[in-house]
Amino acid sequence: MTIAERVTQIRQNLPDTVKLIAVSKQVPVEAMRLAYAAGIRDFGESRVQEAHSKQLQLVDLTDITWHFIGRLQSNKAKKAIELFQWIHSVDSLKLAQQLDKLAAENPRQLQVCLQVKIESDPQKTGWTVPQLWADLPDLACCKNLLIGGLMTIPPVGLDESQVKSVFDRTSALLTEIKSKNWLNLPQPQLSMGMSEDYKSAIASGATMIRLGRILFGERLQ
Ligand SMILES: *Cc1c(COP(=O)(O)O)cnc(C)c1O
Repeated sequence: MTIAERVTQIRQNLPDTVKLIAVSKQVPVEAMRLAYAAGIRDFGESRVQEAHSKQLQLVDLTDITWHFIGRLQSNKAKKAIELFQWIHSVDSLKLAQQLDKLAAENPRQLQVCLQVKIESDPQKTGWTVPQLWADLPDLACCKNLLIGGLMTIPPVGLDESQVKSVFDRTSALLTEIKSKNWLNLPQPQLSMGMSEDYKSAIASGATMIRLGRILFGERLQ
């Protein structure tokens, strides 16, 4: 199947409430252009420098929304704010506060998701559930950030039902945060679901899915 055919097939079966983000890390700009031509307007990247170089090559495509989904080092935060409209991987209060300060100097509000670890996972950063509750008052003070919702990545090695449980609990956590009015969440977002598990994520209420390999094929390592 061509990239256009894959994009079309996946989009055809998505509910209107779900935004498809094409994860284009390690994917050449030529392939991104094919995805764009097939209707993709949201791209996800996990490295600031790589995204910058691609944006320069794709300047003619002016209506792309760029999503940062990787681990953000504090020395890259300023650049990330300039290049991305969304940061899905805000994983600590310290990073949130740094972004908030930087965003104050920016004309537009920065949209972010808080990355949560529902199951312990030494390979990932992000809030544990108790830590997130503890930090919510301080997060609520980050007025220059538009906190859109939560992002999660299930640990590797879980079976299907365990993955579903991670998605369900993330969804329940968002509902609980919203019901307590901690964050201003006009349109609460759940960024979860990748190539292997996006259908399960959608069943649990995902509003943004991040798909790489299923659209572009295996990445070169
Ligand atoms: C790479 C990556 C994806 C895409 O993963 P695929 O398995 O290629 O769909 C999604 N989210 C994050 C955070 C990633 O790093």
